[in-house]
Amino acid sequence: MIEDMLRTPAAVQDAERYTAHNYHPLPVVISSAEGVWLTDVDGRRYLDCLAGYSALNFGHRHPALIAAAHAQLDKLTLTSRAFIHDQFADFCRELAALCGKELVLPMNTGAEAVETGIKVARKWGYQVKGVPAGQANIVVAEGNFHGRTTTIVSFSTDEDARADFGPYTPGFRIVPFGDLAALAGAIDEHTVAVLLEPIQGEQGVVVPPEGYLPGVRQLCTERNVLFIADEIQSGLGRTGTTFACEHEGVVPDMYLLGKALGGGIVPVSAVAADADVLGVLKPGQHGSTFGGNPLACSVATEVVRLLATGEFQRRSAELGERLHAGLRGLVGKGLVAVRGRGLWAGLDIDPALMSGRAACERLMERGVLAKDTHGSTIRLAPPLVITEAEIDHAVAQLAAVLAG
Ligand SMILES: *Cc1c(COP(=O)(O)O)cnc(C)c1O
Repeated sequence: MIEDMLRTPAAVQDAERYTAHNYHPLPVVISSAEGVWLTDVDGRRYLDCLAGYSALNFGHRHPALIAAAHAQLDKLTLTSRAFIHDQFADFCRELAALCGKELVLPMNTGAEAVETGIKVARKWGYQVKGVPAGQANIVVAEGNFHGRTTTIVSFSTDEDARADFGPYTPGFRIVPFGDLAALAGAIDEHTVAVLLEPIQGEQGVVVPPEGYLPGVRQLCTERNVLFIADEIQSGLGRTGTTFACEHEGVVPDMYLLGKALGGGIVPVSAVAADADVLGVLKPGQHGSTFGGNPLACSVATEVVRLLATGEFQRRSAELGERLHAGLRGLVGKGLVAVRGRGLWAGLDIDPALMSGRAACERLMERGVLAKDTHGSTIRLAPPLVITEAEIDHAVAQLAAVLAG
């Protein structure tokens, strides 16, 4: 750590001096990037194995996305939804088609998409399902991560995320992730939605047991409850398919999207659902000043077009095999477990060896940037434009770190 401070003393210290300490970043100061490679203020290069928590699925500064942003900057950046702009319809139509849904509602951040999903589900519950006023409940999973608003942290099970932010929003029930019997027991006649990540990213890339997501789908259908899939991190190619739900042939009632939707350039999120669900919102009942702005729509439409080619999903599936094979080879050599799908992996390091944070610091020394989560777990989520050789390089650096 001290050694790191000596390397880029001014830039690292200045970056910390005037900010709230709600993050504990690695002591590296990035000044430029392209594809999967980051360059720091001293010209050192790093392989990005976090990709902005999957906000950079297409890599840094993908040419098609940058071109769309530049072109739009020269024409129109913001109107508010009080007026219609010429980028809006294409974005909504093409994203709806990608999702196989009738409608989309654009917002900015992931947390706003989650909040939108919660509001829509409640309104649907009162107006369509017939839940008595004020009685709606939503079932969520232990270990969830859905964002940072006061309502969302109300149903977090992570004490760091939740403690001292009360009073908490009522109306949520928490069940163990992957446990269908518990879910069935938690649903009652006032349940309007089950809100889940198909793979829990922040929890350490936790994949539920096979059959769980189809079971959730079936329960929701039988009990007239909306299945809301938070695909903000798992979706848009990360797991080798457009949506993580696809691995088990599951179609939720509502997709929550964000992160990669903005192409690593602007925050763009969205809710996608059919008209019988999203149609419950009428003018004045929900909105956002920046949601669906022209710059966001132009970039996100290009994101949707990149995904429509299927190339990125294919890369993630194929290269993911290579990544996971490499990582499995380290189990017993410093790793105790590897999980995940596609170019997304959660690794548990032998806690006797080192913490996840220490491993990430040593990876940084070797030119690979990754992020720990919960103690001795590291998450790898490189941009989907990574090559085989770069994957092998990342795995080799990890092997070297684990070998001490
Ligand atoms: C990142 C994330 C969010 C929150 O997105 P923000 O843009 O940070 O508000 C919500 N759900 C999941 C699954 C996420 O990974």
